[in-house]
Amino acid sequence: MKVIRLKEGKEKSLFRKHPWVFDGAVAKGSGDAGETVRVESHEGRFLAWAAVSPQSRIRARAWSFDENQRIDAAFLSQSVASAVAARRLWDIQSDGLRLVHGESDGLPGLVVDRYGDTLVAQFGSCGAERWKKVLADALLAHTGCHKLYERSDASVRQLEGLPELTGWLAGAPQAGEDPGLELVIREHGWRLGLNIAVGHKTGFYLDQRDSRKRFHDWTRQRRFERVLNCFCYTGGFTVAALVAGAKHVTSIDSSAAALAQGQANLQLNGLGAERASWLDADVNASLRQFVKEGRRFDAIVLDPPKFAPTSVHAERAARAYKDINRLALSLLEPGGVLFTFSCSGGISADLFHKIVASAGMDAGVDAFISERLGGAPDHPMTVNFPEGEYLKGLVLVNKP
Ligand code: SAH
Repeated sequence: MKVIRLKEGKEKSLFRKHPWVFDGAVAKGSGDAGETVRVESHEGRFLAWAAVSPQSRIRARAWSFDENQRIDAAFLSQSVASAVAARRLWDIQSDGLRLVHGESDGLPGLVVDRYGDTLVAQFGSCGAERWKKVLADALLAHTGCHKLYERSDASVRQLEGLPELTGWLAGAPQAGEDPGLELVIREHGWRLGLNIAVGHKTGFYLDQRDSRKRFHDWTRQRRFERVLNCFCYTGGFTVAALVAGAKHVTSIDSSAAALAQGQANLQLNGLGAERASWLDADVNASLRQFVKEGRRFDAIVLDPPKFAPTSVHAERAARAYKDINRLALSLLEPGGVLFTFSCSGGISADLFHKIVASAGMDAGVDAFISERLGGAPDHPMTVNFPEGEYLKGLVLVNKP
């Protein structure tokens, strides 16, 4: 059996059951892609069983911190079963949910979303890739689903030295049958369409489910007349607001395909097309234009893509976040509400708060920070893996 020996003093994070071994911590030893190795401290003390990623800066990812644990099909199947069972601990008002959230579920690199009876998986580490067949069988067995689609086309595959792979792993439709790629989920009370082959991530931003509900609740209470949904993707927040009685929602995204799905989502929910405008445009440019035109909104959602994947990008990302938040705040009516988010792992909740505060200063807006939001619970964080906290949001209310 192969061994990775760490440099002196580099064992501390593994003692705390943090699952990553960075290349800079390794004194000697390696393994083939995805191979299970024994990770040891400088003195040879057992730390973890881990899968090797020979080309990645995250050189190994721990499967287990128990020396007596065998890393085999039975173990991985049990980990999948635990992840699936954990979802019953939360009140998830949707038939679209995240079943496996990588490191937080003890399955580093594996992401699995369920849309009705279809599973969509991303194998984002050499370890997950190596055990793909076993993991796929376990997923089907523990969910009772028959359809499993692979979306291993996230950028993390490149960092792992793995090729992009997409397609059916199980339940591929026969020629002439429905291709099974366009699905509709029911989130809270409303219906949302998605495409698992070409949609972002595995097709949908499930992590914003609870924040869409909060936006729905706010809209129902305040009956916003003019709503602006920036970075709307397929209009999840748009539908949430319209169902709650918003008079009109303007939605902006730079993806034409997402906007087309957004329009279809209105139809799916019996919402009149005249209550929505869809702009295929850059959000920053649109916000500037709106400021110039003197437009105002009663509620705004700002849910940009990841500006800072890691803390290395934090400074530039901070400027970009500040810019859009400053512009959005200057478009907000007194008493108006801003739902603002960052899904950047490299921007902490604390830093995000500071960025938004400073955007408010620059916009000359004083606002109540009314709520703090996070990812939906099926995208769990754990105490051992703080990197799991990537999505954070604030609800700001412009002082009347
Ligand atoms: N709020 C959405 C998820 C947003 S994800 C939901 O609830 O589903 C971020 C979105 O920003 C993506 O749809 C992407 O196409 C879009 N995007 C990225 N850069 C953009 C830009 N500069 N201007 C407009 N849209 C952009």
